[in-house]
Amino acid sequence: MRSITRLELQYAHRFYGFRGEAQYLHGHTGILTIEVEDSIEPGVNMVFPCNEIQKTAWNMLKNFDHALILRRDDPLLPAILDVYEKQGIRGGAPNNIMKGPAFETELAKAYPECRLVVTKETMTVEGMIKIVYDLLKDKLNIAKITFSSGVNAASEEFVTRNKIDRCPLCGIALNEKGVCPKCGYKKG
Ligand SMILES: [Zn+2]
Ligand SMILES: [Zn+2]
Repeated sequence: MRSITRLELQYAHRFYGFRGEAQYLHGHTGILTIEVEDSIEPGVNMVFPCNEIQKTAWNMLKNFDHALILRRDDPLLPAILDVYEKQGIRGGAPNNIMKGPAFETELAKAYPECRLVVTKETMTVEGMIKIVYDLLKDKLNIAKITFSSGVNAASEEFVTRNKIDRCPLCGIALNEKGVCPKCGYKKG
């Protein structure tokens, strides 16, 4: 069965080199739906608590929220960094606290200190699904990701691959020692 969670991301981007309106910088509220598949953990009668899926996903994905997402060969990138630098906000600002880890994958690199994500490919809805799967595939048993942004939407299904032991008392993933980080339950 599947547990399904949804989160919103507000971001600015453009399709560099695209021959349409989207070649200009613009913004969206993107809606990301993540479906996690596993057996039902009998103790809690659920696959995985949806708020925990959200928490795990948000930890990485908050870097995309209120962020600028640019392809790495986009000439806007050095221009923006130059402005941020001159303004003194390139390395951070006191009110920029919604920062996730400064991840770097094959597809995307986050600069949380200045709310920028640099991508290898154009950040279409399809591109975003590839990035999100790559960031979360080892943490969650992702069976499907759907991403919609304005009139654009895409989805992809994945084969789940992790063996995740869950706490029979609160449903969250046990750590490598078989202990629940929330309630302290230990796998017998
Ligand atoms: Zn767009
Ligand atoms: Zn627990």
